Amino acid sequence: MNKNLIKVYERDASGFEGRALDVVFPRNVVEVCRIVANTKRIVVRGGGSGLVGGCVPQNGLDVVLDLSKMDKIYGFDNERKTVEVEAGVILDELQGYLGRFGLEFPVKPSSHAIATIGGMIATDAVGSRAIKYGKTSNWVKWVDVVDCYGELYRKGITELSDYCGMEGITGVVVRACLKLSSVKKRSASLVRVESLEEVIGLVRNLKMDANISMIEFFDKQVSEWLELGKVYSLIVEREGESLEGDNREWVVGAEYDRLMSLRDRVGPVLSGKELLIYEDPKVLLDRSDKLIAWCEAKGVPVFGHIGVGIFHPRFRKDQKELVSEMMKLVKRLGGQISGEHGIGVLKKEFVDANDKKILINVKKRTDSLNKFNLGKVI
Ligand SMILES: Cc1cc2nc3c(=O)[nH]c(=O)nc-3n(C[C@H](O)[C@H](O)[C@H](O)COP(=O)(O)OP(=O)(O)OC[C@H]3O[C@@H](n4cnc5c(N)ncnc54)[C@H](O)[C@@H]3O)c2cc1C
Repeated sequence: MNKNLIKVYERDASGFEGRALDVVFPRNVVEVCRIVANTKRIVVRGGGSGLVGGCVPQNGLDVVLDLSKMDKIYGFDNERKTVEVEAGVILDELQGYLGRFGLEFPVKPSSHAIATIGGMIATDAVGSRAIKYGKTSNWVKWVDVVDCYGELYRKGITELSDYCGMEGITGVVVRACLKLSSVKKRSASLVRVESLEEVIGLVRNLKMDANISMIEFFDKQVSEWLELGKVYSLIVEREGESLEGDNREWVVGAEYDRLMSLRDRVGPVLSGKELLIYEDPKVLLDRSDKLIAWCEAKGVPVFGHIGVGIFHPRFRKDQKELVSEMMKLVKRLGGQISGEHGIGVLKKEFVDANDKKILINVKKRTDSLNKFNLGKVI
């Protein structure tokens, strides 16, 4: 491949850069099997929207296996509410197809316009509706995987964890059968709150309502940048009718769309302020005030899926020491260093020794030729 074109495949959305030996674009499973069988080191790439360098090739030794041409949707079963897709299908394209039948894939990362189903499975993507729908793996029935010998296998419920969330270190996900949900009537409310204590209390109450499908948090700084005033803001989404006695204003139609696009605008607004390091720690709601307070004290803007305790503190590139300090705090709070983006290259240094041992064992068992995504996760 032309050297200038290869450069596009030598980085992901984190901005982390590597060097590729080559880039290949299989069009079907047979081609994936042949390429894998004849290649020593492979990095799988979906939409390249990852934020931890997971699909970035290393040292000029890796061949990038780009699955974007494997984008067929088939095997739709309206009765069982399932669909079979190739790994390169982009989430928004799948939603467009399913919308005609009143169905959807309910996990919605903010990168829905670029992320592929294969990438979402490999990172076990979460998203703004996690409070109701959980992670991608909750909605996968089976995956077809190509192993390091170039052999194709179907992996069902008992083996999904070897591939969902393993960030491409165990094999290539080439196809999947996804479970679907009906499109719901949704409304949203913008809530502004003065104190952190009020935020936590409000979220605790909202979580008791089974119809709440999204609680997104913006700290005072982020709210101000979004022109919401210097207060804490929450975008809350619910499905169906509101509860009796709830006198919040719930908007639908164009106003609802405006709130959702406000949520999607946060990333670009912060990137425009050179806040390019995008972290995703996860902590229990009862401890999240400590994480938010730390961010405020350090001048680190933070927003996130507070309903499931996943936060996005954003740092400048010269604030790596602050990132390490935050990771120590997250561990002290009993949290996880990554709630949704994964480990890739950029978070490897923060993985606990015990977790690493478990991951190494899975890697040895599934990728005995040590071929996939070397230097990532472990
Ligand atoms: C603006 C923005 C917002 C985001 N919001 C969210 C969010 O709300 N929730 C969330 O969870 N994530 C979010 N992300 C992160 C990212 O979009 C997700 O991790 C997404 O699932 C990655 O999909 P992808 O197709 O782009 O994968 P890539 O970036 O191409 O790859 C990600 C990892 O998966 C592996 N991989 C990709 N395809 C396959 C395959 N077929 N088989 C095996 N391994 C594979 C790669 O090797 C790599 O390790 C966001 C990113 C951006 C830029």
